[in-house]
Amino acid sequence: CKMNKDSLVGASCDVTFKEINDINHKIRPDLLSLVHSDFFKYFKLNLYKQCPFWNDNNGYCVNRACAVDVIEDWDQLPEYWQPEVLGGFANESVSADKVRDDECSFLDQLCDNSLNQMRQRGPDIEYCDVEDFHNDQSVLVDLTVNPERFTGYGGEQSSQIWSSVYRENCFSINETGQCLAKDAFYRLVSGLHASIGTHLSNDHLNTETAKWGPNLELFMLRVGNFPDRVANIYFNYAVVAKALWKIQPYLSHLEFCNAYHEDVKSMITSVVSNLDSKIFNENLLFHDDISSKLKDDFRSRFKNVTKIMDCVHCDRCRLWGKVQTTGYATSLKILFEIDSDDEDAKQTVVDKLTKYELIALFNTFDRLSKSIESINNFEKMYNNTLLTA
Ligand code: FAD
Repeated sequence: CKMNKDSLVGASCDVTFKEINDINHKIRPDLLSLVHSDFFKYFKLNLYKQCPFWNDNNGYCVNRACAVDVIEDWDQLPEYWQPEVLGGFANESVSADKVRDDECSFLDQLCDNSLNQMRQRGPDIEYCDVEDFHNDQSVLVDLTVNPERFTGYGGEQSSQIWSSVYRENCFSINETGQCLAKDAFYRLVSGLHASIGTHLSNDHLNTETAKWGPNLELFMLRVGNFPDRVANIYFNYAVVAKALWKIQPYLSHLEFCNAYHEDVKSMITSVVSNLDSKIFNENLLFHDDISSKLKDDFRSRFKNVTKIMDCVHCDRCRLWGKVQTTGYATSLKILFEIDSDDEDAKQTVVDKLTKYELIALFNTFDRLSKSIESINNFEKMYNNTLLTA
């Protein structure tokens, strides 16, 4: 990617691409261990929720052409390479009813009671549907055995999802400051899209060798040839990093079951202590007018993006789509709703985060961190191909 690594990631980020690369290099090992810990590796989602935006009876990828641009001869491939299989869950990871109950009580023991408090009614400050986490139909999934990777999901169905996501970015033109908010919204969803593109290129199935591995050509087509898409991944990293930086002082209330996994808290500290407040300045976004109609509009539009994930037919894509949109929603809530000078009020917002919001937040940061690591690897591969050409 032809981009200057010493330039700033964005107008609202006082940090360069190189600085983010350096931070990421430092925190990567601890962040990886953190998302593999028992507290952070489970996510809960409702796989049976109806798509709220359109009637989608197309079924999952029934049309083989849905992946023609990636693999041309699907019918010749064995069963276990078909998109339905690649995009499904590793069987043992989805809990059946009984297992689910056990898992839930297991997880409840793992976290502090304050996280289980009933949420008090008040003004809506949610950027995603937190009710999903309490739904009877929701299942727990072990994220570590269901990595985000190439699934063969594509074609009209996924295009329709991406178009609807980008369509949420149509803010009314008369609001003051709508440009910055609109730009940030676009960067968030484009960064998510580019991060998914990076993962599916990095963990890609080579149908000739039957091996999984990085596919440079695909990465260049989806992400590498578009410096703005790469920059949007860095922008998202800055947004989520700032949210983590902001809640750090209030995390001491949370008991991550030190007895069960005593390293978890120290890993969080070691990750977050490498972050800096200048990485992203959320106050620029709504011109300091955080009670504005514009901010509410931004919130409800982002909430719609999280709901659009219920329309994704590929289970594994839906899982990671939900995790990441929930992670961004949680970051936005932290950045824009923890705004008072009152320490108790700030503590209350953090105490009320559900454990799944926290799990999504750290896993989303891990996804971006992995994307940045992969981008740097792809860059090396690209430079090597130039040398050998
Ligand atoms: P798409 O990626 O579908 O993009 C459509 C159009 O959007 C492009 O033609 C381009 O004009 C524009 N565009 C593309 N990228 C960007 C960007 N970063 N910023 C702005 N505009 C852009 N596939 C997997 O293999 N594994 C997964 O885990 C996975 N998860 C997914 C999760 C979700 C929520 C969705 C909606 C899709 C997921 N997919 C996944 C499918 C994947 O994102 C692509 O849709 C699919 O690979 C087809 O790609 P495409 O080249 O046709 O273009």
